Amino acid sequence: MNSDDLRYELTLLRDLGFTHLDIRQPAATPSATDDARSADNRQRGEAAELLAGLKAIAVVCEKCKLSKSRTQVVYGEGNPNADLMFIGEAPGRDEDLKGEPFVGRAGQLLTDIIKAMKLTRDDVYIANVVKCRPPENRNPEPDELEACHPYIQRQVEIIQPRVIVTLGRFALQSLTGKTYGISSARGQWLDYNGVKVMPTYHPAYLLRTPSAKKDVWADMKKVIAELGGESGT
Ligand code: SF4
Repeated sequence: MNSDDLRYELTLLRDLGFTHLDIRQPAATPSATDDARSADNRQRGEAAELLAGLKAIAVVCEKCKLSKSRTQVVYGEGNPNADLMFIGEAPGRDEDLKGEPFVGRAGQLLTDIIKAMKLTRDDVYIANVVKCRPPENRNPEPDELEACHPYIQRQVEIIQPRVIVTLGRFALQSLTGKTYGISSARGQWLDYNGVKVMPTYHPAYLLRTPSAKKDVWADMKKVIAELGGESGT
């Protein structure tokens, strides 16, 4: 971590309400002796390290009332240098229990969408705008969305994806800070701090409304084209 990164992490900690740090001796890590290691691998390692540092902060976060009811924080997972990020709303029951994003029925549908794009979950990065499960799967409240926003903001800054797909209204509105309607915004390219954003429906909505799957696939074909791939249809 360079000095700019360290400064940013300290600012983030302050924004998240931390007033002091518990400084412990870091675990010994192997020194980088392989001079032939590629710049790509270095970058991957740096992003993974930064994401791990942010996760260590998130998993003990008590910045909003969702910390009282969660089983565990669902931070996000995937390729630290992914070209493509999927950003959803908040963990549900299955995610809260497993600590992983999108692992229930809606998660299986997202996995199927990713496979149809000729990618795997390991190729992309998946996270939510709210890291802790709202009780009874209610919608996240404005104070919770605001409290959690620094995490997804920093995850995007670290990963530097080429494209973000937002899943559902809350993810779109929380990420961009704008009051877009999902039906009118989906399928249209938007911008988030220089990253192209494709809003589409949440997989949970597709479970209730299978007829909307064709709209999501139309949106994903635009994403595939943007990333230089082939949709196959
Ligand atoms: S939802 Fe976000 S801000 Fe609230 S306690 Fe969980 S990690 Fe912290």
